[in-house]
Amino acid sequence: MTKHVVVIGGGYGGLRAIEFLHKYEDVHVTLIDKNPYHYLQTEAYGYIAGRFDLHDVAINLSSWCTGFKDRVNFIHEEVKLIDFEKQSVSLNKTDIFYDYLIIATGAETNFFSFIDGLKEHSLGIKDLQRAHSFRQKFEDLIYKKLLATKESDEDEINIVIGGAGLSGVEVAAEMAHVIQVHTKTIGEAAKDLKIYLIDASDTILPGMGKYTITNTHKRLEKLDIKILTNTFINNLDESFIYFKDAQKLKYSFMVFTGGIKASTLNSSIESEKNKVDQFIPDSQLNIQGKKNVFALGDCVEIKDNNGNILPPTAQIAEKSAEYAAKTIRQRIDGHKSKPFNGKVEGVFVALGGNYAVGEMFGFIKVKGYKAYLLKKAITSAYHFGLRLRINTGFKNRIKN
Ligand SMILES: Cc1cc2nc3c(=O)[nH]c(=O)nc-3n(C[C@H](O)[C@H](O)[C@H](O)COP(=O)(O)OP(=O)(O)OC[C@H]3O[C@@H](n4cnc5c(N)ncnc54)[C@H](O)[C@@H]3O)c2cc1C
Repeated sequence: MTKHVVVIGGGYGGLRAIEFLHKYEDVHVTLIDKNPYHYLQTEAYGYIAGRFDLHDVAINLSSWCTGFKDRVNFIHEEVKLIDFEKQSVSLNKTDIFYDYLIIATGAETNFFSFIDGLKEHSLGIKDLQRAHSFRQKFEDLIYKKLLATKESDEDEINIVIGGAGLSGVEVAAEMAHVIQVHTKTIGEAAKDLKIYLIDASDTILPGMGKYTITNTHKRLEKLDIKILTNTFINNLDESFIYFKDAQKLKYSFMVFTGGIKASTLNSSIESEKNKVDQFIPDSQLNIQGKKNVFALGDCVEIKDNNGNILPPTAQIAEKSAEYAAKTIRQRIDGHKSKPFNGKVEGVFVALGGNYAVGEMFGFIKVKGYKAYLLKKAITSAYHFGLRLRINTGFKNRIKN
């Protein structure tokens, strides 16, 4: 008998789960997402700085699903309610019943409420709309500098990135690199655009390896980025960022990457959660005490075998998705499953232009163009897989 698996969230986790589930002949999948597209957040830094185009960071989910013939269907709608007793997901006009449910709704920027004005005066990059608006603001500034004459020239313009984790560092580096390149083409005025990277921790990239931190730091300094660690933002108004030590910084715009919280669907579900509303699942990624409900990716707090919390990455979202899909297969077949055992294999940090730094498997350590090529190989393979699925869908449509 065919089993119906409903996947909520077409992000890195949701799509990887479907790639595995569709191999099972007796499984039909419904994907539900509040957006009509899959957003490649890992490429956001390049989109913001104008290095990538929209088609590099967004993939239409309906087209992608047609690549599975009629085995996977897509519903574009935001899920607000799940009835775990009835095993149904409530949508506006109908209820969708499931045998197995995967919640892969990701996370959003946590604009900490204790920083007055943060939400009103800064942008996040966890959703495409905000990233798009950040790109436009950055482009506007470059354009302004292109038109600048000596007489009209004003003071320095400060762009601030709050949060020096992976995403903040990547965005800062790519913008700074673009500014350096533009200084050669549009003129010295571009030099007035200054990038600040601010973090409350005592280091950039907290939690990452020493090699990555040291070499990233060197690269950011070379790109003329002002790095302010141990720096606590107190509040913001339209023009200034005020710090806890009574200093202030005039700014043009700020992007905040300093924290995440689980997507809002989590708040409607009764289950054990941490401070940022992520589910705390059991060892087999089940929530609600239900063996047919899985939660994975950024909406969940996932630990490794030693009890350390794993960072919210696409890598872990995908691994947890593969695990959930395989476990569903085992449950259908009446087999037992081992606990989820995830670990981060490595991270590459894009640092502007053709430069990256990264570590893999604990012993591969690379920087510069070589690291950039490795990072590019990983992201190109991912993009190629998505496009291949879409092309299959188009061929199917032409045949029918
Ligand atoms: C700038 C940047 C750079 C990054 N670089 C890296 C990197 O180099 N390597 C790495 O491994 N990770 C990186 N990450 C982290 C990575 O992008 C996330 O960890 C990953 O996206 C998590 O995948 P996910 O499937 O859990 O959630 P997401 O990819 O966020 O997908 C969640 C999906 O759920 C949908 N959704 C949410 N709520 C609902 C609802 N109620 N109803 C229906 N749909 C809903 C959303 O529309 C979205 O499509 C980076 C992130 C950023 C922002």
